[in-house]
Amino acid sequence: MSTDVRGPEPVALSWRIKERPGLTTVEFVGEIDENADFIELRRRLRGTVAFQLAEVRRINSCGVREWVNFVRDLPHVTDLSFSHCSPAIVTQLNMIYNFRGNARIRSFYAPYVCERCGAEEEKLVDVPTQAGARQEIPSFACSSCGATMEFDDLPERYLSFLAES
Ligand SMILES: [Zn+2]
Repeated sequence: MSTDVRGPEPVALSWRIKERPGLTTVEFVGEIDENADFIELRRRLRGTVAFQLAEVRRINSCGVREWVNFVRDLPHVTDLSFSHCSPAIVTQLNMIYNFRGNARIRSFYAPYVCERCGAEEEKLVDVPTQAGARQEIPSFACSSCGATMEFDDLPERYLSFLAES
């Protein structure tokens, strides 16, 4: 069984920026809420930018508003993508049509359960090679017992954002 390691205390949003020639990667960690302040980050981002969103575990409604305002106004960014989207991010992508701004979704985590041993895991799905516009979900082997795991949500709900990818 996987263990939920989220504590009761909210974790303020932070990010780590890696700048390489031709690509800026921003790794976000924490919760997106009304305290999220993207002003400095917006100023700094330019060119090709990739957001890594694996460690964003919660977003509240004020955070959604801050985020939407942030991603729709990135004047120096020419190419934006989201990768490693956590289930919380996927939920927002499915509910809020402009949550992604102009970003392409490159990969996301999806919940899987093993019917043989009960293990639950989030598996990383690469959109171009494993999901694509047909909204199919790949199968994975359980890392505990090797059985084929079942997708643990409704595909038409969890994957509806792919129709826009
Ligand atoms: Zn198993």
